[in-house]
Amino acid sequence: IQSLDEKQLNVFHRFSQSNSSLKKHRSRSIFSPFFCCFRNYNDYHVEPPPANNKTLSLPPPPEENGSPPKPPAKFLLPEVSITDYGKNCVVIDLDETLVHSSFKPISNADFIVPVEIDGTVHQVYVLKRPHVDEFLQKMGELFECVLFTASLAKYADPVADLLDQWGVFRARLFRESCVFHRGNYVKDLSRLGRELSKVIIIDNSPASYIFHPENAVPVQSWFDDMTDTELLDLIPLFEGLSKEEDVYSLLQNLRSR
Ligand SMILES: [Mg+2]
Repeated sequence: IQSLDEKQLNVFHRFSQSNSSLKKHRSRSIFSPFFCCFRNYNDYHVEPPPANNKTLSLPPPPEENGSPPKPPAKFLLPEVSITDYGKNCVVIDLDETLVHSSFKPISNADFIVPVEIDGTVHQVYVLKRPHVDEFLQKMGELFECVLFTASLAKYADPVADLLDQWGVFRARLFRESCVFHRGNYVKDLSRLGRELSKVIIIDNSPASYIFHPENAVPVQSWFDDMTDTELLDLIPLFEGLSKEEDVYSLLQNLRSR
């Protein structure tokens, strides 16, 4: 990761660490509030939850006119479409799972996405993980696919437009659909509106699925290794998972190996 300075490198290295000894190195660069890749573990411990966070499980405030309280917040996903009926649901992370993005210009970017931050347009340089096209197409055949990222929609939505040429993602969920829990944006699978025994999450960050580790297919964080074959290597596992009535036993076997 030659393009990153020392401080940013420290943040990256913390992906695989759960300790907080590097807290003092936390960078408040323009990167940090932006990509979810900077969000891991204690990176966001000082940031309050977003004010418009609809995913909080608190009941709505009582209404002025004394009308009865509203039903609980609705599910994150719409009803299953006819084409996806009977399929298991795979929840797919974006940053460091499918792509790696940075503000540092790189000559081999797959996409360059302009994103406005505080009135200034910044170019975001996006690298696709090797075999991501084949992986996404296969996922689209086998599952109901949902993109679920802790990044902001103004970055992740245009990236998803460029990445998903096949319309694989039936829904896209962004930061506001996460639950802010102990300094992390957590993807609470119970809020999707799908049977949990039919839901799989693939994510490079274990903190993202801390509420549902038994539904997870862990994946190594990816930054720029062009020889990486992780996505290709995972396809046989997902082929198996797509045929399971209940994904838990297969995933448990995977964990105990
Ligand atoms: Mg990620």
